[in-house]
Amino acid sequence: MARFDGRVGIITGGASGIGRATATCFAAEGGTAIIADLQDAKAAETVQEIEAAGGTARAYHLDVTSEAGWAGIVAFALSEFGRLDVLVNNAGIGDSEAIEVTSLETYQKVVAVTQTSVFLGEKAAAEALKASGHGAVVNVSSMFGIVGGFGTSPAYAAAKGAVRTLTKNTALGWATEGVRVNSVHPGFVDTPILGETDRELLVATTPVGRIGRPEEIAAVILFAASDDASFMTGSELVVDGGYTA
Ligand code: NAD
Repeated sequence: MARFDGRVGIITGGASGIGRATATCFAAEGGTAIIADLQDAKAAETVQEIEAAGGTARAYHLDVTSEAGWAGIVAFALSEFGRLDVLVNNAGIGDSEAIEVTSLETYQKVVAVTQTSVFLGEKAAAEALKASGHGAVVNVSSMFGIVGGFGTSPAYAAAKGAVRTLTKNTALGWATEGVRVNSVHPGFVDTPILGETDRELLVATTPVGRIGRPEEIAAVILFAASDDASFMTGSELVVDGGYTA
């Protein structure tokens, strides 16, 4: 029996990078992956790849900043599959502006997609996760939710820090409700979010001498989502090649 047999999970930002690797590995271990993203074509391509490998997946167009969108995706999971067991709040955006030049609009946009989305997702999924019997939430923060993030924008660092403490707050609130909530804090990982950032600079600041692969973060996300982590809640799992050590 595979770890996620019979379990249904929503993975936000599941069409790209870390989310895509998480959805793919979740489905490979028996789970039904609902890929929630704005990028419809990439989400559909991910579903095709999963199904070609014998897994089960669906694409769902979700803007993680929309409360109505969240109500819709939870209703979709329950009507299509009758349950929701795993929520991976992974969608996020970054920017690299210094505080002096960051507009309020940019700040609020980064916070909405990266932080408020976690609140909306947890709130919308709460009852379904409690009914699951093995409900698990994994919130993808960043190593810059732990340390200040030299060269990273204040909006991103503030949002990722809030994801860390929101995780702990919800974990305590649901500790006796059968739902575990943990955060994962990646270091530099080779995905489109890095944009034009000089990869050599990132390698040079990462103690292990390379940046991470999406699958290396997915493995930790799925550990936290699985019954292997049944006694773990409110924890922060740092996966950064030694950056914050
Ligand atoms: P990515 O750009 O490959 O994936 C992000 C996904 O989120 C994209 O598919 C995008 O369409 C989706 N998305 C963006 N806004 C959305 C919205 N409003 N609604 C729904 N989906 C939306 O980047 P990634 O590296 O895979 O990022 C995944 C998570 O990991 C993010 O939260 C990111 O902050 C975090 N992270 C990444 C790194 C890194 O170096 N790659 C490091 C630390 C943390």
